[in-house]
Amino acid sequence: MSTVANSKVNLLGLSRPELEAFVATLGAKPFRARQLMKWMYRKGKSDFATMTDLAKDFRSRLDEVAEIRVPEIVTATASADGTRKWLLKAPGATGAEQAIETVFIPEPGRGTLCISSQVGCPLNCSFCSTAQQGFNRNLSAAEIVGQVWLANRELGADPEGPRVITNVVLMGMGEPLSNYRNVVPAMRVMMDDLGYDLSRRRVTLSTSGLVPQLYRLAEECNVALAVSLHAPNNALRNELVPINRLHPIEELLAACWHYLERQNGRSVTFEYVMLDGVNDRPEHARELARLLKGHDAKVNLIPFNSFPGTSYRRSPEPVIAGFRDQLMRQGVIATIRRTRGDDIDAACGQLKGRVLDRTQVRLGTRRIAVTVQA
Ligand code: SAH
Repeated sequence: MSTVANSKVNLLGLSRPELEAFVATLGAKPFRARQLMKWMYRKGKSDFATMTDLAKDFRSRLDEVAEIRVPEIVTATASADGTRKWLLKAPGATGAEQAIETVFIPEPGRGTLCISSQVGCPLNCSFCSTAQQGFNRNLSAAEIVGQVWLANRELGADPEGPRVITNVVLMGMGEPLSNYRNVVPAMRVMMDDLGYDLSRRRVTLSTSGLVPQLYRLAEECNVALAVSLHAPNNALRNELVPINRLHPIEELLAACWHYLERQNGRSVTFEYVMLDGVNDRPEHARELARLLKGHDAKVNLIPFNSFPGTSYRRSPEPVIAGFRDQLMRQGVIATIRRTRGDDIDAACGQLKGRVLDRTQVRLGTRRIAVTVQA
């Protein structure tokens, strides 16, 4: 909770204890924090005046010192398949115009919101469009939770009706574990019963493999885990996911199994992008099966989504299906991710927002000795 000179405290994204501490500074009892959470998250309100069960003088005090501020929408796009994408303002240090992306993917019986955690990404994976943008900054907890708040509003979610957003995945722009200190409180709000009340199986954090933060997460937060593996051996993974040079596959997998044990999780989903002629051969499937067999693991094969300037190509459909079948034959559960929203550049790896690169930090490649913010 921090205030910049002349600015109000943004209540969005504060965890329950933080909000209780804040209302205490105004002389209010902790239950006021719970009331505020209901108004903000369940009812989607941002104007204190509408919060009718709060005393009038408390509301005017709030108006003076606090606000519920969500990111501004730059553009909204809809795909032919029903996928929606929003470009949201995430200004740079000097107010420079930057933007991040949020994607809603409707499916029968569920609605998944894919949210961003950083402006750009420091990880530099060779096949990812976000990586080409460089990295500018972390999103605040308010900006992370604000994506859910906004999407609910834009999708016309009725607080009394069925949920529109049933699942949240941190699979948008950025590496969530390199913004640990804002991502974890934001996920807590998503799972809080006075927040978005999502079960821990319906909030998924996807990481390219920041091993120390994974161990920390295992102690502190219980969510579903997805890991961007993409290669079955270190030589290839070093090329595709350069953070692997810092945290090789064996260490990453050990951290994953530890996470499952500590959090009593069901399984880890391993994402594997299918790149024509690069990581899609039968020997890769065999190697991958050897790594994962006997563990609570699922493989999710992602057909590569193209973007301008890339020289990778998507593996042909029969190759992807053959890869899946081979994994299954060797006792590893595998599925193929259906591509959604690619006509509006909303598919995996296509999110680019608008990033004014500062790139002092490129994890895994340029500056290995960087301290990851935690
Ligand atoms: N940084 C986190 C969160 C991003 S999740 C992570 O790496 O897990 C987005 C997923 O889409 C990741 O698995 C990512 O590796 C994958 N991806 C990136 N570029 C892609 C592309 N061009 N086509 C398909 N999937 C891609």
